[in-house]
Amino acid sequence: MARYIGAACRLCRRENLKLFLKGDRCYTDKCAFERRSYAPGQHGQKRAGKYSDYRIQLREKQKVKRIYGVLERQFRTYYEKAEKQKGMTGTNLLVTLERRLDNVVYRAGFASSRNQARQLVRHGHISVNGHKVDIPSYLVKTGDLLSLREKSKDLPVIKESLETIVRRGVPKWLEVDTDKKEIRVKAMPSREDITIPVQENLIVELYSK
Ligand code: SF4
Repeated sequence: MARYIGAACRLCRRENLKLFLKGDRCYTDKCAFERRSYAPGQHGQKRAGKYSDYRIQLREKQKVKRIYGVLERQFRTYYEKAEKQKGMTGTNLLVTLERRLDNVVYRAGFASSRNQARQLVRHGHISVNGHKVDIPSYLVKTGDLLSLREKSKDLPVIKESLETIVRRGVPKWLEVDTDKKEIRVKAMPSREDITIPVQENLIVELYSK
């Protein structure tokens, strides 16, 4: 599946929000958003006029896509599936994104960013219920046991990332055993578990036009 390979920090500056796309660097004074908190490009420092409803909705969608590292086509597919599920479409959409394997690896503290988590998955370091899964978009379900393959347990990137687990916290729908390097999916995430600052109703409004 294709992914965005441009400059990550430009995305934070465009969305006027720290999206934490670069792991530990995001918590240091090297963060580009901390130093230049205006939009990138030649006109980035111009005062923005009044935003249209469309622009506000579009920016909200772009923000969510960028946080989870999903491109338009796949995001649209997630949306269409969310629409067909019971309940609120916006919540369904966020819950689906949150269940992605790369996101779970990141949220459990095994990687310092979703990008790094995606690489761990792609390179075959993660097993689900004892079977190697190298598809970042794989959706976890209640009861799944995620583990690192034996040869991957001592990877320095994972050890370093797990040290930041206290600062980042683990969502309550996941249980992490840092010694065995295992993640148990205790339940499906609820809307309250998704702490990113997003108004998903704006995305629904955008796609409903
Ligand atoms: Fe965004 Fe991280 Fe870059 Fe800061 S360092 S601008 S939070 S990606």
